[in-house]
Amino acid sequence: MRKRPIFKDQTLVLLTKHQKERVIAPLLEQTTGGKVVVESGFDTDQFGTFSRERARPESQLATARLKIAKGLELCPADIGLASEGSFGPHPLMPIPWNIEMVLLKDKKENIEVCGIYQGAETNFNQILTGDYDQVLAFAGKARFPEHHLIMRPDSKLSTKIVKDISSYDHLKQAFNWCVSQSSVGQVFLETDMRAHANPTRMKNIEKATEDLLAKLYVFCPDCGAPAFAVSQRIQGLPCELCALPSKMILKQIRKCSKCGFIQEELHPDGSKAPAKYCDFCNP
Ligand SMILES: [Zn+2]
Ligand SMILES: [Zn+2]
Repeated sequence: MRKRPIFKDQTLVLLTKHQKERVIAPLLEQTTGGKVVVESGFDTDQFGTFSRERARPESQLATARLKIAKGLELCPADIGLASEGSFGPHPLMPIPWNIEMVLLKDKKENIEVCGIYQGAETNFNQILTGDYDQVLAFAGKARFPEHHLIMRPDSKLSTKIVKDISSYDHLKQAFNWCVSQSSVGQVFLETDMRAHANPTRMKNIEKATEDLLAKLYVFCPDCGAPAFAVSQRIQGLPCELCALPSKMILKQIRKCSKCGFIQEELHPDGSKAPAKYCDFCNP
């Protein structure tokens, strides 16, 4: 179904220097009718880098907001876009975890929507080694050379760094150089998580953009504004066996950020909680 072009002929400013427009622009332009304009006149590394030259001073969401503010300052428009990712271990399991956010802000309409992807689909990894066979095994697992690598002598904190490794010749050269610079003959090798150097991450940014669109295309029943978003979820869905309240969602509340209209939705995940989620039946 063709969707209403809610940003028809409007400019959407995206601050990026890592080619994120490749996945963000086609989706947003086709659906919303807006024009994504890339603003690359600012070094977004100042908001933090994955390879630790500069720590990210703010949270993921706050950093995305800073990028939007900077983009709209450099390229005057009403609507700004930013993408911000994070990588680390899953909070409960020993697997790598990626959270991607694509944030949209419409200053004039007072709308802010955040599209999110989170999942284990990432090559995020690091190794400390002096053995080139291990370097090759790591590269294979990281889906090199389509996915680029970063290498340092000694440790992850070394200020000596080889970036943009994207061929086996360069990998070997980097290894020889880093070993020669190391006091113990070891290199620290890691996956490059910048979007243009990591097709898997680019795909996840695309998924977050799809989520952003899904959230944008819910309209306020009162004033018709887009992004009629869930602002609160309330637990307590009754258990199917004992009818006591569970941790599952009983109702969610949507709020229009333009006119303030509020709507309650009962039972977004079904009307009874399976007993396996009940603290009484299945403690
Ligand atoms: Zn409204
Ligand atoms: Zn129960």
